[in-house]
Amino acid sequence: MFDSVIIGAGVAGSVAARELAESGRSVLVLEQRDHIGGNCYDEPDEHGILIHKYGPHIFHTKEKKAYDYLSRFTDWYAFGHEVVANVYGKLIPVPFNLNTLHMVYEKEKADTLEKKLIETFGMGSRVPILKLREQEDPEIRQIADYVYENIFLHYTMKQWGQTPEEIDPAVTGRVPVVISYDNRYFQEPWQGMPLHGYTPMFEKMLDHPKIRVETGVDARSRIRFEEDQVILDGEPFCGEVIYTGPVDELFNCCFGRLPYRSLRFDFEYLDQKDYQGHSVVNYTVSEDFTRITEFKYLTGQKAPGTTIVREYPFAYTGAEGEIPYYSIANEANQALYEKYRALTEKIPNVWLLGRLAEYKYYNIDAMVMKALELTEKIKQEV
Ligand code: FAD
Ligand code: UDP
Repeated sequence: MFDSVIIGAGVAGSVAARELAESGRSVLVLEQRDHIGGNCYDEPDEHGILIHKYGPHIFHTKEKKAYDYLSRFTDWYAFGHEVVANVYGKLIPVPFNLNTLHMVYEKEKADTLEKKLIETFGMGSRVPILKLREQEDPEIRQIADYVYENIFLHYTMKQWGQTPEEIDPAVTGRVPVVISYDNRYFQEPWQGMPLHGYTPMFEKMLDHPKIRVETGVDARSRIRFEEDQVILDGEPFCGEVIYTGPVDELFNCCFGRLPYRSLRFDFEYLDQKDYQGHSVVNYTVSEDFTRITEFKYLTGQKAPGTTIVREYPFAYTGAEGEIPYYSIANEANQALYEKYRALTEKIPNVWLLGRLAEYKYYNIDAMVMKALELTEKIKQEV
């Protein structure tokens, strides 16, 4: 009945489904949640405030192709996302930049440090905190120590349960020290929110005569792998299967669970116009939660009340209801991942795609690009 089956209706699965459908294939999308959109899913809460159920998602990219692709399905509310850190009650811009420097040090000292940073790294450069800490100059070391202690150490301990040195340097490298006066969290040329929300964007993407979406279906109840073939609804299936869920779960975690970090989201509606005056405040030295998001500042929504969400990280255990959000990049975990990936390699028509299936820290734009790349390859091969 179907040419292709896609498991998961997040960015990876939805883009892949659309591409394969447009190439003439009939596509079945199976999604275990009761909605599409994966972790980008948004919906109005009971007070009419548009919330992101799985944490704040801001689209940002330097890839025009990714921006153009999503623009087929949405218009944009364009804005430059800014984040502040709450450091002992004082709000300072993150990433740490030259504006932050002037808020932290008195003028004469800040002027000297600024000159030194520009001379050493160049205006506009982006320096990962772990690199900054390697500098020998005592004044630069002083800034590095301040940023490390007040921005990175405690937040990273909460988020990952490990210090910045213990985790993959690419993770803290996502938020470098920026030698400029740009307060934006992301510096890429295209950034913003789908004008009417993410969910309508995904609805439009999946709205195609050749796509059938079934939500509330755990694909494992329909599909199983037997040696080198796929069995769909009891029959051998030779079309392509794109899997975007956690790869260990496909094989009953036979080599042990792949480790992930999870999050608990605590939403709160407040009967007041404004809570924090910013879309995101990171709590970098205090509290058990990492950050508070106030949605109306992300979406531009005007409303008399406001909804906020606090994020509490914890180690994913695979218990009922828990969601694996962040893969934990290190050698041991990669080796375990490769063992599972090797099992899928035996089945020629199965492809792994997505943040979970590839065990990688992808942003939305990278996911769009990967899905386009994979479907292009499939279209050329078959
Ligand atoms: P997912 O969105 O996780 O989709 C996978 C889907 O597969 C899920 O819907 C899942 O239910 C389904 N599935 C899994 N197993 C099965 C099964 N057995 N049967 C059926 N369905 C199954 N990126 C940005 O660019 N900007 C941001 O601001 C940003 N913020 C983020 C904030 C948080 C808290 C998190 C966790 C991520 C953030 N991201 C952000 C990353 C972004 O969420 C991902 O890039 C994107 O969601 C990845 O899409 P995906 O399709 O790979 O995965
Ligand atoms: N980070 C930090 N303090 C901050 C912001 C980020 O320590 O104020 C570190 C932390 O380890 C985090 C990583 O940088 O996990 C990447 O941050 P990003 O905001 O990109 O994380 P995400 O939005 O993906 O959760």
